[in-house]
Amino acid sequence: MKSILITGGAGFIGSHLSLALAKTNAKIYCIDNFFSCANRNREYLSKVKNIEIIEHDICSTLDLEVDEIYNLACPASPIHYQKDPVKTVQTNVVGTFNMLELAKKNNARILQASTSEVYGSPSVHPQPEEYWGNVNPIGVRSCYDEGKRCAETLFFDYHRQFDLDIKVMRIFNTYGPHMSLNDGRVVSNFITQALRGIDITIYGDGTQTRSFCYVDDLVDGMVKMMSTAKGLTGPINFGNPHEVMIKDLAEVIIKLTHSKSRIQYRPIPQDDPIRRKPDISKAIKLVDWSPTTSLEKGLIKTINYFSQHSMN
Ligand code: NAD
Ligand code: UDP
Repeated sequence: MKSILITGGAGFIGSHLSLALAKTNAKIYCIDNFFSCANRNREYLSKVKNIEIIEHDICSTLDLEVDEIYNLACPASPIHYQKDPVKTVQTNVVGTFNMLELAKKNNARILQASTSEVYGSPSVHPQPEEYWGNVNPIGVRSCYDEGKRCAETLFFDYHRQFDLDIKVMRIFNTYGPHMSLNDGRVVSNFITQALRGIDITIYGDGTQTRSFCYVDDLVDGMVKMMSTAKGLTGPINFGNPHEVMIKDLAEVIIKLTHSKSRIQYRPIPQDDPIRRKPDISKAIKLVDWSPTTSLEKGLIKTINYFSQHSMN
């Protein structure tokens, strides 16, 4: 029986990944410090017999026998990762180091959930993996952006120095059920606001863009990336190349929820990237992966989930 460790396993993406991998009959260890996950996710996971949830902070060392590690532990929403920025850096650097050491000890394959934030506010559009990015090293987002960049560095140094079997995915904005209602990211904020009929908060003038990937598509990509041949290290972009302006996202969500919410404009946060869209040619060619869920279809599924949970 294969043993798979998922750090951040109770989080939004981690909970979907854990449930998907549990269907393969592997033993799944979900490691989480419960910093930014929805409480409900623990309930879903605890009902599955081959999933074991372990409360643990990856900044401390861990000893387990495992064949594969998916390293997802790190708050992903700006409001969460900026709440304790020093801890965010620590999770990405010390935590990642601990997980790489664990992989080395077990001779296990390890996959890093990296991010489009390594490109910062990009001056190349769409973003290919060869682009080195435009990141402010001292701003309020740097704890996350630079932390994730350093995590990639550690992955590649372990690969070069110890021949560790690594996989690095650069994930672009992903959304879906199991996001926490107070997560603070744009899709969960807009849906919650629309369902409650309160003002929808657009930061800036809403002309900034993002490209949103539905979580089932992403999880499918994660599992495929993990099963690629040794030596295919990445980094590889995973996301949906359909680019939308934030103000258009607000309009679609208002339409799909039949909401009476109005738009409220607020100041744009520091260093908020202006445009973001993945070039996914490598994922298509090397991993045979591309997303299949349209934004409207994914939003309807997410709205259905939130409408069951947003009032309690
Ligand atoms: P999330 O905040 O819902 O999940 C992260 C999980 O990690 C949470 O359950 C949190 O409690 C846990 N965690 C945080 N610090 C920890 C620590 N020190 N030790 C143990 N557990 C810890 O976020 P998510 O959207 O599910 O993101 C998962 C991963 O994917 C993150 O690494 C994130 O950077 C990456 N990612 C996500 C997106 C996205 O759009 N969702 C985009 C790019 C990258
Ligand atoms: N955003 C917004 N209103 C919100 C939350 C976010 O207009 O209530 C904007 C945010 O400024 C950014 C985009 O939506 O331009 C995506 O934000 P999110 O926090 O989801 O992800 P990230 O900025 O990390 O891509």
